[in-house]
Amino acid sequence: VSAPGAIATEALVLVELGRKPELLPVEVDAPGLGEVRVSMRAAGLCHTDVSAIEDARTVPVVLGHEGAGVVEAVGGGVATHRPGDRVMLCWKTPCLRCRRCQGGRVELCEHPRESLGQVRHKGRPLARMLATGCFCPSVLVPAEAAIPVPEGVPLEVAALVGCAVATGVGAALRTASFDPGACIGVWGAGAVGQNIVAAARMRAAGAIVAVDPVPRRREEARAAGATHVADPASAAAVIAEASEGRGLDTAFEVVGEPAVMRAALDALAPGGELVLVGAARRGAELTFRPRAFMSRQQRIVGCIYGSLRPLADLPALLAWCADGRLDPARLIGDRIPLADLPGRFSAGPGEAGARTLVSFP
Ligand SMILES: [Zn+2]
Ligand SMILES: [Zn+2]
Repeated sequence: VSAPGAIATEALVLVELGRKPELLPVEVDAPGLGEVRVSMRAAGLCHTDVSAIEDARTVPVVLGHEGAGVVEAVGGGVATHRPGDRVMLCWKTPCLRCRRCQGGRVELCEHPRESLGQVRHKGRPLARMLATGCFCPSVLVPAEAAIPVPEGVPLEVAALVGCAVATGVGAALRTASFDPGACIGVWGAGAVGQNIVAAARMRAAGAIVAVDPVPRRREEARAAGATHVADPASAAAVIAEASEGRGLDTAFEVVGEPAVMRAALDALAPGGELVLVGAARRGAELTFRPRAFMSRQQRIVGCIYGSLRPLADLPALLAWCADGRLDPARLIGDRIPLADLPGRFSAGPGEAGARTLVSFP
């Protein structure tokens, strides 16, 4: 028995940890009070979707959290959106009521918003990754999580802004604290790393060293604005040259591997900071030598979703795509239908570009 207004479709669901996700028939509720239902046009495959196979907090879960589409229905009380509006999904929408939000730290919101309406398989509600679950042609979100996309920004580009661009640009502009002329290192030159490079330039960094074992990614990082590129084995020598022997003022680790974090930490200048952007395995540990860290007055800082204030910053990022300051179209690799997505969970990174996009008809 269907709920009134629910629509029947399919979604990519991780049924069990350690298993490949699969397409299952689902029903998506009609939007309730304050909610909108979005007909997806494009969704990016993020590293976090892939690592969910090992460490999702809840299963079964609909994967996908980086997407854009068109509003297909609005619930009661929604005056801000209409059917046909082009929107990008925000995966952490602050409640604006909790103690953190009230204190001005909306990026630390204790109760991020999610829709009360559900996605169901055989009548049972499924969890949705990061309050979105956008590997599904129809996605239910609070109206505030559907950020209007300005004219001139393709929905494919807007989709990438929802996670890769937001995370990378936010890491460089919000989380990090470097001065103009600073020497920057970025370990991991995929979609997020390339956005860190681009935003570090916007913030008037001096030398920017991108470190990645994949030659294609190193070239992409150069195109994004890196002044130096290196494979991991030669990183220390290249950084020494780029920084005239001083080391890095800010190092970004976008891989999520303790050994890489340690390499980045060891490359820091006195007063330098390490920004942890990559998601490590739950339970992973990082060891380092605290004595030198103490006397050199260094810092390690975590970064999720670019420490953004989403309701203010995401529209700004979309505006920067419209005026050409950001150019995420460069990141788009393969475009695949939803039906081909399960195969991508064993195939490793695509060959054609930084980001694989699911295109919805
Ligand atoms: Zn992501
Ligand atoms: Zn809050």
